Amino acid sequence: MSYLVLARKWRPIRFSEVVGQEHAVSALKNSISSKNIHHAYLFTGTRGIGKTSIARILAKALNCSKLTDNSEPCNNCESCNSINDGAAIDFIEIDAASRRGIEDTKNLLETISYLPSSSNYKIYLIDEVHMLTPESFNALLKNLEEPPPHVIFMFATTEYKKILPTIISRCLQVNLNPVSKKTIENKLAEIFSKEKIKYDENSLGLISEAAYGSIRDALSISEKVISFCNRNLKEKEVREVLGIPEPEVIARLLKSILDEDVKEAISILENYGEYEDHEFLLKSLMDLIQDIAISQFEKKSSKKSNHNNFLNTDPSKLQFLFQLGLTNLKYFSFGYDSFSILKMTLLKMIAFSPESQKKNPLIIKDQENFEIDWPKIFKDLNLNGMSKNLLKQASVVLYENKLKISLPKNILVILNDDQKNDIEKSFKDFLKKDLICTYDDDVNINQTPENEEKNKDKGFKKNIKKIMEKDKNYNEIVSTLKVKSVKFNKKNET
Ligand SMILES: [Zn+2]
Repeated sequence: MSYLVLARKWRPIRFSEVVGQEHAVSALKNSISSKNIHHAYLFTGTRGIGKTSIARILAKALNCSKLTDNSEPCNNCESCNSINDGAAIDFIEIDAASRRGIEDTKNLLETISYLPSSSNYKIYLIDEVHMLTPESFNALLKNLEEPPPHVIFMFATTEYKKILPTIISRCLQVNLNPVSKKTIENKLAEIFSKEKIKYDENSLGLISEAAYGSIRDALSISEKVISFCNRNLKEKEVREVLGIPEPEVIARLLKSILDEDVKEAISILENYGEYEDHEFLLKSLMDLIQDIAISQFEKKSSKKSNHNNFLNTDPSKLQFLFQLGLTNLKYFSFGYDSFSILKMTLLKMIAFSPESQKKNPLIIKDQENFEIDWPKIFKDLNLNGMSKNLLKQASVVLYENKLKISLPKNILVILNDDQKNDIEKSFKDFLKKDLICTYDDDVNINQTPENEEKNKDKGFKKNIKKIMEKDKNYNEIVSTLKVKSVKFNKKNET
């Protein structure tokens, strides 16, 4: 028999073999046993958690000629076998990523009027359905409104938000969750013992951690690790293959951040390597921070020895570090160099911590450091109308390359990122240097362009009055106007 990769060999073929999706599986089995069959199903969830596997099992169950009492497909009848072998005529599987155009969809939809050849239903499974073009979606929608009774649609997607609401509303939605680490570990233990692969407990934990909730990824990672470790998995080697740092490295990294030791932090990163999984390193650091925070709350020492050195850390500092890590995780999906993202995140953790702000404030209060004539510069900044209007009420202080922009609270809250970018760019262009910009509501109203304008206005009016008072004609006109002032009184009105 030819060699089958683990992920294919252990792909579930009945509901009871599906891992970590109990709620979805039991809902589907109930709908089968109560004969409450929908004409369209939408499976949603991240990659590798069993969307198409469950759809296939459901398709088998719907077309099985010897369905078990437990609503499981028999995996033995002609229909089940043909689906398992990928040769079914009445179960049509399409990958929308490669066949997304209207012509493909039209060709497909033309076949739905034909009755199934030998089964109860003709079932269409469209994977990555969000990839279909809008025209294809529209064509599909028409068929979803009134499908022939022998047709069932199954859609799977990792990007639920890209599906038209009109499609979603016509489907029974089956949400699948990322599989928990513990569940993946248990499944791996089961598979490894059946496959006669030796392992230590920690290596299972490492593999399931690196799989980020995907059972398929856990199996393909295992494949790699098994061949590297020659079917005998040991923690140290598994770490090496997966590029997962030792817990001590993460603890040293956290210490360097708390000590504000930039040199040490960077040197740890550089030793870890430029080509490793930097997102994973940041997540490991956040896991450690989280564990420490929880131990602090529980007021007990942790089982993990390297946590205990950190138990006296200021809890708000831990919250700050975790929050900063969380905010920066999103940047890893931007396609920018992950090593740089990690380095900058760690620098932020050090430079922007509440303590270092106190020691070396980016917020400048000292008016003596006022290096620019702000109201004067204001006129020359190249800004769009909206940003310029907002900045009218700002006071600005520049100290070296740190620019503090102070705005009234009501403006500060509505200022969006585009406007900030616009403002920062205009300052950088004007001052011809790189700037670190900070915002606060500590406005010095005597220093705003708006105030300057008002003063000028007042001055202008005063000057005009002076000139006019010197004018003979003006005085004559004023003296001829006999203005009486009348007092209005409510009592007198009636
Ligand atoms: Zn069957």
